[in-house]
Amino acid sequence: MRERLAKQGNPLLIAAQRHYVKPFLITCLLAALPLLFGLWVNASAPHTPTHAYSPTRCTRYCAAHSCRHATRANSPAYFRLRPLYTATIRGLMLGGRARYADLNVAFYLVLMPGLLGWLTYGALRDASRIRQLKKHL
Ligand SMILES: [Zn+2]
Repeated sequence: MRERLAKQGNPLLIAAQRHYVKPFLITCLLAALPLLFGLWVNASAPHTPTHAYSPTRCTRYCAAHSCRHATRANSPAYFRLRPLYTATIRGLMLGGRARYADLNVAFYLVLMPGLLGWLTYGALRDASRIRQLKKHL
């Protein structure tokens, strides 16, 4: 029935599909931006990633341990955000060291992106509905 109405060009159905499809597509494009940024950063980095400590630059060692390169003068944000980072790590360690990786993946790769995607999609969908309703006023 829906397909037949859509093929016939039912304007109400086409408008209803726009309320869901366009926000979904925009949400997918917005979600792809951090992934593309990560790919660009990794592809254009002058050094290959390493977990080894380097005295001249930050490596992944700095993320796993505290960064020895940061000072309050060259990176005040590091010192402001470090307590939040430490609290997050402690929260992820609540399940023990054995479950840390699972909780990390679940939180950062499933829960947070899912929540942000759902909120973005909802806001875009509601904005589309509001615009549509304003046309009828
Ligand atoms: Zn560092």
